[in-house]
Amino acid sequence: MTGKNYIGNRQSGLGDRTYKTFNPKMNIENDHVYYEATTQEINEAVSLATEAFKEFKNISGEKKARFLNAIADEILALDNQLVNVYCSETGLPEGRAKGERGRTIGQLRMFADLISEGSWVEATIDTAIPDREPIPRSDIRKMMVPLGPVVVFGASNFPLAYSTAGGDTAAALAAGCPVIVKSHPMHAGTGELVASAIIKAAEKTGMPNGVFSNLNSAGIEVGVQLVEHPEVKAVGFTGSIRGGRALYDLASKREEPIPVFAEMGSINPVILLPNALKNRRDQLGATYAKSITLGTGQFCTNPGLLLGIKGEELSDFVKQLSDEIIKIEPSCMLHPNIIGAYEKNKNKALSQSGLAVTADYDSEVQTNYARQAITTVDGGTFLQNTTLHQEVFGPFSMVVQCDDVNQLESIISQLEGQLTGTIISDENEVNTYSGVIDALQNRVGRVIFNGVPTGVEVCPSMLHGGPYPASTDSRFSAVGIHSIKRWVRPLSFQDWPNDLLPDELKNENPLAIARLVNNEQTNRKL
Ligand code: NAP
Repeated sequence: MTGKNYIGNRQSGLGDRTYKTFNPKMNIENDHVYYEATTQEINEAVSLATEAFKEFKNISGEKKARFLNAIADEILALDNQLVNVYCSETGLPEGRAKGERGRTIGQLRMFADLISEGSWVEATIDTAIPDREPIPRSDIRKMMVPLGPVVVFGASNFPLAYSTAGGDTAAALAAGCPVIVKSHPMHAGTGELVASAIIKAAEKTGMPNGVFSNLNSAGIEVGVQLVEHPEVKAVGFTGSIRGGRALYDLASKREEPIPVFAEMGSINPVILLPNALKNRRDQLGATYAKSITLGTGQFCTNPGLLLGIKGEELSDFVKQLSDEIIKIEPSCMLHPNIIGAYEKNKNKALSQSGLAVTADYDSEVQTNYARQAITTVDGGTFLQNTTLHQEVFGPFSMVVQCDDVNQLESIISQLEGQLTGTIISDENEVNTYSGVIDALQNRVGRVIFNGVPTGVEVCPSMLHGGPYPASTDSRFSAVGIHSIKRWVRPLSFQDWPNDLLPDELKNENPLAIARLVNNEQTNRKL
């Protein structure tokens, strides 16, 4: 068998712990029983991955690309079976399932293209200068090499695009790292189906046994054991600040600390400048009502914090936004635990003094459906009460009414790190807010002009990450081809014989990749 996929694992031992997924729309448990991975299985998956790494790291980019494309083909071949299981485990509509599948396929093919071309390894060559005075220069060459087995935690809010064969997995496999997925318990069935597609693809394209494993879990123990395992070399995570930080701390305390690339919470500040509000109030109200409720607010880029300067323009906008958001039909959240957390965090925010509610959907809603809400608070209260700075994951947003531009700048400077920051401005209006723009750029990973933060384009120039706690390492992106850099390290070869060098660094440049040779970017051979 290629890989280790614990589909329907029914072995004895700790695997006696079982669980079911939940259909939030129907408010019932799904039938299938899942078995949590045992310690023995965790160890087996990691040792298979470690063994697989010896071969996988040396497999050509072209062959790995065939593997990634085959994964995409096998996922598509699952067709409606996958869509149906996805919908039954998330309450999300079929259109979203298909859209997310398209994104997942697109990411796999994007990495396939990247590695079959090959220049991504950043090959750098400085040839020897034997007659340099006073010290001759050696021949030194450098390229990126994979880290080793990577553990990927599936995200609850993206069962496909940030889970089993999602961005983290695609990037790690592309880099040459075997992957062990810690499946998210809320969508174990979707995870197992996708895992079966990966295993089939691995078999068809001749990948080493252990290149991919999928482990089920009913609680945090499986993830903890994986992160603590000495043979695991890096971790990818998408989820809450609490979960990401716990894993980061665990990884740092290991005898050999390893990187944890966690993409966590964000409230995505949006700065609303007065002229823009005056001239486009209706359109902005409708646009933001949609953005706040998109996917029932279950996006890491959800605009949870709107900031403006007190005045008629801002008050009129708040009214418009509140009127618009109440018109939107409430929708289902992913799981009773997620709606439970939404209600708890929303109520916690609502109980803070100084907060006013301007919209709170109060008609009857079905079980597991979220009531959207808009609140307002003044700048001074917001500055003093950091509870108000915390993410309320769901269709909730807070409008902060600042006394003046200085207070606006001060609030932005004191925000925690964010994935995104948005400016809503009329033409030229922004020019008088340079301090605000500077402060915003300092706190976020992506700045948006006159748009909404929801919707993350998958392209090379996208940065999906940001200063802590938006992510654990603001130097890297979790989206796009450059996300591969999380799973590699540079390795230098000094005076290494040409025929023993990797193809990427050989004199003949057999892969015809772009390289930096003696400070010149070129595809030529030496
Ligand atoms: P989560 O609680 O962070 O869990 C994500 C994954 O990490 C799960 O597989 C979980 O395992 C594991 N995990 C959590 N804490 C851990 C720990 N201390 N040690 C080891 N593993 C740990 O996120 P979630 O389950 O997706 O959703 C819960 C809440 O997180 C949401 O209500 C929302 O507030 C937030 N969230 C935010 C974003 C965002 O993009 N900002 C995305 C998703 C969730 P188990 O499930 O097996 O316990």
